[in-house]
Amino acid sequence: MTASPERHEFQAEVKQLLDLMIHSLYSDRDVFLRELISNASDALDKLRFEQLTKGELGATGEPAIQLEANREARTLSVSDNGIGMSREEVIRNIGTIARSGTKEFTGALARSTAKDIPALIGQFGVGFYSAFMVADRLELVTRRAGEATATRWESVGDGAYTISDAERDQPGTTVTLHLKPADPEHGLADYADDAVIAPIVKRYSDFVGYPVRMKDKTLNSMKAIWDRAKGEVSEDEYKQFYRHVSHDWNDPLKTIPVKIEGTYEANALLYIPSKAPFDLYNAEMKRGLQLYVKRVFVMDECRDLIPAHLRFVRGVVDAHDLSLNVSREILQKDRQIQVIRKQLVKKVLGALEELQRDAPDQYAQFWTELGPVLKEGLATHDAESKDKVLELVMAASTKHERTSIGDYVSRMKEGQDAIYYLVGTSKDTVAKSPLLEAFVAKGYEVLLFSDPIDEFWLERAPAFRDKPMKSIGRGDIDLGATATTDDERARFADLLACLRVELQEEVKEVRLSQRLATSAACLVTDEHDMTPRMQRMMEQMGQALPKVKRILEINPQHPLVEKLRAIFAESHADPRLGQCARLLYGQAHLAESGTLPDLTMFTQALTDIMLRAT
Ligand code: ADP
Repeated sequence: MTASPERHEFQAEVKQLLDLMIHSLYSDRDVFLRELISNASDALDKLRFEQLTKGELGATGEPAIQLEANREARTLSVSDNGIGMSREEVIRNIGTIARSGTKEFTGALARSTAKDIPALIGQFGVGFYSAFMVADRLELVTRRAGEATATRWESVGDGAYTISDAERDQPGTTVTLHLKPADPEHGLADYADDAVIAPIVKRYSDFVGYPVRMKDKTLNSMKAIWDRAKGEVSEDEYKQFYRHVSHDWNDPLKTIPVKIEGTYEANALLYIPSKAPFDLYNAEMKRGLQLYVKRVFVMDECRDLIPAHLRFVRGVVDAHDLSLNVSREILQKDRQIQVIRKQLVKKVLGALEELQRDAPDQYAQFWTELGPVLKEGLATHDAESKDKVLELVMAASTKHERTSIGDYVSRMKEGQDAIYYLVGTSKDTVAKSPLLEAFVAKGYEVLLFSDPIDEFWLERAPAFRDKPMKSIGRGDIDLGATATTDDERARFADLLACLRVELQEEVKEVRLSQRLATSAACLVTDEHDMTPRMQRMMEQMGQALPKVKRILEINPQHPLVEKLRAIFAESHADPRLGQCARLLYGQAHLAESGTLPDLTMFTQALTDIMLRAT
């Protein structure tokens, strides 16, 4: 009846992955079953969702997942009567690696060792291929709900697969594993044995919302884990459920059971991952929470339940009073969803606060992985959550490797009325910036920021518990004791005027500095101007902006500056003045960003000075 099977090559990344999968001695091979059951459960969820939103897809029978083990044939099959796949969907979903993540995946694969493989596999949503850990041939027969024809997919994991037409009575999918010979000594159990399969299902998939059956026996309890009292659920059950909802094989960093009472009731089970998902900054990132209504799955990736700066949070929300028939458009405006979302935000931020206070090491891990995303919340309009997020911010400082702003404030010196910070292009350049010199000399601590997002929220002149945060790289700084005297001002006025003329194309002002102790010069941003990095980022986003000139500050205490003053007093036209002006300007740039605005100008001035000195 059908044409001969069509042969397709796997995408290169899949080949690599399969190779690792087949040869890796991953100790916990049982998890392949969790992955297949999870896929089957997702497919049943999707079918239910389509039925709710699109109406009839024909009778599909009671949703269930059926397992069948055959000892003689050494096969194990996992069947569902879920959404199924069309031929195109099979090629897209099973022949390639998940959607947007291919590039990230290839990168991670190249960097990883055999030990990282499990985490890698889970994170990139390639769970299906884990079946090759226990099988040497895989067969998948599937029929998309609403379509009449079925498709057969087969592979021995050697870099290619075949596709052909097939028949299937009902919509849904059957995956058949042709099992490798059992080898219990090497962690390969006999998966053709019912007695081996049952406990694996219980362990990994107990909470799955559909019956998982073998012969006529239902193996899982189907208890919604989020509805159970906290004390009733074991750590391991929480972990397994996390893996099910997140497709992440790592353990979660924090589990947050939530019970919302009052006008609207909801139970939720949220997780903070221990590793940043690879597609965190990808617009197509899989994000949002699963939404249930009284234990009935309504939708995946419901984005309205959690704001963008908490997009790393995974989990489920079961809202008791929503209509089952709710659409994504309605959800956006739904009052109940807004109330729930507010509560969830509160819970998540509360849990993070707890970690920060009680488990600094774990919090440090969270901060390294996900801190920059959380900081996006500082640019939101929600004042309440902004204040909370600000409390959670960690930063390096001139005195500590990492500190919260609250701890910084508790160390502030008598008479210090602002929180000082410096934001720059890298950890290293901010830590070594000449702008810090006077602060260090006076014993003032300065917070150091270098994530791109920092420019955005710090730009908005935030206050922390009523204390203003002040950039030490911007505007005037008055540090009291080092203040410039009128005397100095008069002494250097002519030199400053000369430098201003020499650098008129480059800077808007040359003035004496109160920030410097040992360096001769630095660049600062005028009070209301955009920082250079901010400007670059805006330009990358497609905005055309006029060039912002900076301010060059020079140190009146520096011998070089004193020498220049003397040269100028002797001859206003001495060429050294122009050369030094350009070198000072270039140096200030180097200290700030490690780059020069005009390489030719700098080297020319340097060569001239060297010629003079040799
Ligand atoms: P993940 O489930 O993490 O997306 P998998 O490699 O396990 O990754 O599966 C890839 C895709 O194949 C799934 O996203 C889904 O679209 C499809 N798929 C897998 N199993 C089934 C199934 N039983 N029914 C329908 N679609 C499936």
